[in-house]
Amino acid sequence: MYCRVIVDIVHENVAKPFTYLIPDGMDLVPGQRVAVPFGVREKEGIVTEVTEECDVPPEKLRQVLRPLEDYAAVPPELMALAEEMAKQAHCPQAETLRLMLPAQMRGGRVHVKTVRCVRLAVSAEKAEAAIAADRRGGKRSQLLRLLVSGESRTVRELSSLVKDPGEALRKLEKDGWIVISSEESLRTPRGAFEEAGDPGYKLTPGQQEALEEILPSLRGNGGRYLLHGVTGSGKTEVFMKAVRETLTLGRCAIILVPEIALTPQMVSWFRGRFGAVAAVIHSRLSAGERYDEWRRIRRGEARVVIGARSAVFSPVERLGLIVVDEEHESTYLNDRHPQYDTRDVAGSRCRREGATLILASATPSILSFARARRGDYVLLEMPNRVNDRPLPEVEIADMRSELEMGNRTVLSSALRKALKECAEKGEQAILLMNRRGYNSFVSCRSCGYVVKCPNCDISMTYHIGDTDGRLRCHYCGSEMPPPDTCPACGGHYIRYFGAGTQKVEEEVHRLLPGVPTVRMDYDTTGSKDGHGKILEEFRSGRARILIGTQMIAKGLDFPQVTLVGVVAADLALNLPDYRSRERAFQLFTQVAGRAGRGQQSGRVIIQTYLPQDPVIGFAARQDYRAFFESEFRRRRNGLYPPFTVLARLLAESNAEEKAEQAAERLEEQAGKLLEDHPEWKRRVLTMLRDTPSVKFLKGKHRRHILIKALVSRETDALFGALTELAAEGAEGAEVWFEVNPNTMM
Ligand code: ADP
Ligand code: ZN
Repeated sequence: MYCRVIVDIVHENVAKPFTYLIPDGMDLVPGQRVAVPFGVREKEGIVTEVTEECDVPPEKLRQVLRPLEDYAAVPPELMALAEEMAKQAHCPQAETLRLMLPAQMRGGRVHVKTVRCVRLAVSAEKAEAAIAADRRGGKRSQLLRLLVSGESRTVRELSSLVKDPGEALRKLEKDGWIVISSEESLRTPRGAFEEAGDPGYKLTPGQQEALEEILPSLRGNGGRYLLHGVTGSGKTEVFMKAVRETLTLGRCAIILVPEIALTPQMVSWFRGRFGAVAAVIHSRLSAGERYDEWRRIRRGEARVVIGARSAVFSPVERLGLIVVDEEHESTYLNDRHPQYDTRDVAGSRCRREGATLILASATPSILSFARARRGDYVLLEMPNRVNDRPLPEVEIADMRSELEMGNRTVLSSALRKALKECAEKGEQAILLMNRRGYNSFVSCRSCGYVVKCPNCDISMTYHIGDTDGRLRCHYCGSEMPPPDTCPACGGHYIRYFGAGTQKVEEEVHRLLPGVPTVRMDYDTTGSKDGHGKILEEFRSGRARILIGTQMIAKGLDFPQVTLVGVVAADLALNLPDYRSRERAFQLFTQVAGRAGRGQQSGRVIIQTYLPQDPVIGFAARQDYRAFFESEFRRRRNGLYPPFTVLARLLAESNAEEKAEQAAERLEEQAGKLLEDHPEWKRRVLTMLRDTPSVKFLKGKHRRHILIKALVSRETDALFGALTELAAEGAEGAEVWFEVNPNTMM
């Protein structure tokens, strides 16, 4: 017998499977990992096919060396998925197969952990008799007494109960009283999250209706849903029930969340309800723990998986349900090679495996909502909050008039007053400031020079430290002390402008001395479980005000919060990206949704210099439909996605002229492709060489060629050709091809 093997090397020339001979007595199945000879070396590979046909001449045929596991590490459904994804991303299958396995499994960097276990090898009666006969109660009978129940115990455990049992154990084993074996042990992380049982809610009518729509699909051949429920409508409870039903039906479920560290509540609910059958895939798991969770899933011991986007590749069999919670989050797009959209991968898996897909959000992405309107997903709406709690009242604070009134601080008079009242009543508040640090830039009053990062074309942010202030680049992390004089003109009028979370925190302390606050941003969440500690500080009520960047807007449920302030709404609105309006609306609505989730009603204040901007208005009225219609129209008129596809070829180089030359050459080659393929050219709306808005990043000069094309099969073929073009690279420059990436800076 022969098999075809995808060798784990990413190189164009080895994209195809290679044929190997299976030695006599070795059994292999597709999806199994094997060691094979490759050139002069030994490589790992994955069997794609076992066949009787051999397509290589006998003198070139080589043998599989050995299987790496005795089972298929990649089950058949995931093999098929990897193949499909490779076609879509125009990349070698070896690359998409890597997504299907824990990274450290490749190259044998993690191993099964074993422990030595001892079990009784004789009947309990015989052991009892021996114990009774031994009047002195020696080590042998002490050990036998510990084992007489028939359950196995680890050597370690026995050593803690009987002093130096080694010799006695060896003797017992030799005489056939016990067996000592190596057994697998799982490094399952437990206790990191607090557990909570089933609250036993009576479903609201909205929840009930949504669930009843979904149940027939779960029991049948699957379906696709977009669950659009306002913040606090109880979406989680709907899919908890769907997961429960899936398990009852003997199938498995995968729950995807944007970022697991930011959803500790969800994780504890899942653990509490599903206990040992739940697996949590967390980016902070050690390699060994991750591998063990993966094995628990592969063996069918864990049947509900919760994790961030890579959990979509969990090797569950009999998949019944995938939930994508907060489906609008940009973390679901994997920008790194191979590019994929988790929502599409989930959809494709569900279709293939007859499972149900639920995308859930209070602010669905334009793309998903458009698909739901077209009938690709069944739209489930939950327009009301649980227990008829009202949505919070949203007010707009016009920062222009604040300035006119002489208020130069980051907090409007309305927000100041509201914060005071909130603190007096003993309630909690959340302040969103979508920029970290103290001042956002430092510049010279005389000549206008702005201090930029030496490695990036980005202004440096001023951060207050424990002892002194530092300038920090938010892109590459480089730091420097702030200058005393202007590096450009030597002037002494260095000034600090713009505000970040640190400044807001300081302002709050000045306004409400003694009221404890916590700050949650990239700077305060770096340590292991940094997020968890901060959230716990707030949940327990020790901290009264939570100040943070967009990481505080996601899915948190704090019933004591009655006030939410969006300190600088314009930061989100003014980004140079066609999605900035969508992201801003989502951010404001999501953060507003953190208010008034308990008994007290909530209040939201959005501070802006652009009070007339329609997006601010839609967010203030929390009117998703109106926002969607307006944004959908704008995208259609402006020919933006989903009506078109945006892509780019990006060239990066240490030398500016190399980047420039590479871009010129790429433009030429891409132009030639279009000349050679008039059918491709017809679909391309624009193609232009340009300097990205960040023209220097992490020490690399950058140029790109932007492409806007109609959604079509021909465009896809063109993108395949451009992927190959990028893979060929350029002299002295790195080249990337990106389709609809999260950022085009
Ligand atoms: P969403 O994700 O839609 O914003 P959540 O799922 O976080 O909303 O639910 C909001 C709050 O309502 C949570 O505290 C949840 O425990 C509670 N909840 C959900 N369903 C019910 C119900 N049927 N009865 C009472 N409380 C509920
Ligand atoms: Zn930098």
